[in-house]
Amino acid sequence: MRFSQYYIPTLKEAPADAEVISHKLLVRAGMIRKLTSGIYTYLPLGVRALERVSRIVREEMNKAGALEIFMPTVQPSDLWEESGRWQKYGKELLRFKDRNDRDYCLGPTHEEVVTALLRGEIRSYRQMPLNVYQIQTKFRDEIRPRFGLMRGREFVMKDAYSFDCDDAGADKSYEIMYRAYENIFRRMGLKFRAVEADSGAIGGNFSHEFMVLADTGEDVIAVASDGPYAANLERAEAAWSGQEAPLSQTAYEEVHTPDCPTVEAVCRLLSVPATQIVKTMLYNADGEIVAALVRGDREVNEIKLKNLVGATELELVTAEEIATVSGGNIGSIGPVGLKVKRIFADRELLGGNDWIVGANKPDAHLLHVDFKRDAVIEAYKDLRQVQEGDPCPRGGGKLTLTRGIEVGHVFKLGLKYSEAMNAKFLDENGKEKFMVMGCYGIGISRVVAAAIEQNHDEYGIKFPPPLAPFHVSLLNLDIRSEQVNAKADEIYEFLQAEGIETLYDDRDERPGVKFKDADLIGSPIQLVVGGKGLERGIVEAKDRRTNEKIELSLENFKRNFKDWREQVWAGWGL
Ligand code: ATP
Ligand code: MG
Repeated sequence: MRFSQYYIPTLKEAPADAEVISHKLLVRAGMIRKLTSGIYTYLPLGVRALERVSRIVREEMNKAGALEIFMPTVQPSDLWEESGRWQKYGKELLRFKDRNDRDYCLGPTHEEVVTALLRGEIRSYRQMPLNVYQIQTKFRDEIRPRFGLMRGREFVMKDAYSFDCDDAGADKSYEIMYRAYENIFRRMGLKFRAVEADSGAIGGNFSHEFMVLADTGEDVIAVASDGPYAANLERAEAAWSGQEAPLSQTAYEEVHTPDCPTVEAVCRLLSVPATQIVKTMLYNADGEIVAALVRGDREVNEIKLKNLVGATELELVTAEEIATVSGGNIGSIGPVGLKVKRIFADRELLGGNDWIVGANKPDAHLLHVDFKRDAVIEAYKDLRQVQEGDPCPRGGGKLTLTRGIEVGHVFKLGLKYSEAMNAKFLDENGKEKFMVMGCYGIGISRVVAAAIEQNHDEYGIKFPPPLAPFHVSLLNLDIRSEQVNAKADEIYEFLQAEGIETLYDDRDERPGVKFKDADLIGSPIQLVVGGKGLERGIVEAKDRRTNEKIELSLENFKRNFKDWREQVWAGWGL
């Protein structure tokens, strides 16, 4: 492609609202433009990057036996009423009416549509296993659309849905998709990790997220120092010795604790470690106030709590709500005499019988509290967030926390949708059964952003070759020189003949502008053709990953280029 005939409107400055590097670089490199919050137009270079990602995903999905279909974006409310999600999905679901006053939504995902489709098509066990997928635009009215393509409201997703006769079949479909995902992200040249994720009601190891590793990732993942265990922080299990403390013989007593709104302040005043204090956190769970207890040096894992409580919405209470259940101020809430029906405790609290907690009055705490004796705890469960250095819950070693970006998700759905929407088939014995489903997503547009978060420097993007809009940026440094033009044209033709996607910078611009744009756009290879080099019989070549420059002799250029290109690709692990 000749740059002069293409459209890559690069910018010096990033937009003011861009917080993360991928957002800044995508806009600066002329790949996307914002239409409105969380909604973007893809310019030609952006379309190419999306297309690279889609192509790899499509090839691997096809190889794994999935069949491509294309479902509508607009979905009628009745299907969502059937599945129960019309009410439950919350505000991310953009609902609207047509001219006949019928309710619709823009598809945030397609379980309802695909289940409705296949319950009308599949009659017999002979028609399964079946896995269908699409690459399509989704709409989710995210609370905080931000970070450009990373968390858009409108975005491109690949979503696949598997249908099987039984659990064993569904597990096999899951395994096939898991392997396909490994192939996909490996082929893309990305550093990634598959982690156990929250599988809600299904249980078992049937939800994995695929994380692109990047310091700037929104997700925290816990990875075993040695061993295969890796899990999303939301789900990562906190190991516990299982040693329960005996009942205490010491009665609790009240102490005066003025100006102690935090655990640290109580520690200082009473000269005790945070491990002896228990925090009481109050949440509003679907309108009811519940309490969660964790040790003073721990944090509540709200996903674990939400699953335990069985709530759809869970958020910290307001100051007014605190006053309805506790006479204390923030910092002096505690489980003893708390006017809350449901109190849950982290299971490691079973290991102690001498805790310090808030007294439910201002400026007061209780010492020597034994929950089994002094409070009513509904359940002791794993409720806390894991911390760096915690022992690994399975296999040896310790947990380290790193950051990642969720680019894919494989999930066993089981009977959730087939039961709700009555998707049945006849088995070998002519008996009616529900289909067992799985769903598998990849954020196609998020992959583009994640690749940039993982691979960039202060000058711009460093695209992994399989995702790069162009493999080579060929810079013609002097379009006024016949000799330079002739050589640059010749190299361009050679690269095209080789099927190497090349962006030929033949613009009437200063070399400095061309160098800057090439670094910003991030093709893995830069080739620089200039008068001085030609006199010496060389072109300069740069590996954008390492920024190392070498000179390629024009004698035997084709051979030299091919050999060196292989080295560059090998550097990416390809
Ligand atoms: P998240 O926790 O990031 O909100 P999710 O659990 O809602 O993700 P899924 O419903 O599993 O995501 O969607 C499948 C994939 O679609 C995700 O793995 C992610 O890569 C992508 N994705 C989800 N939401 C967005 C978004 N708002 N913008 C871009 N990509 C998204
Ligand atoms: Mg989401």
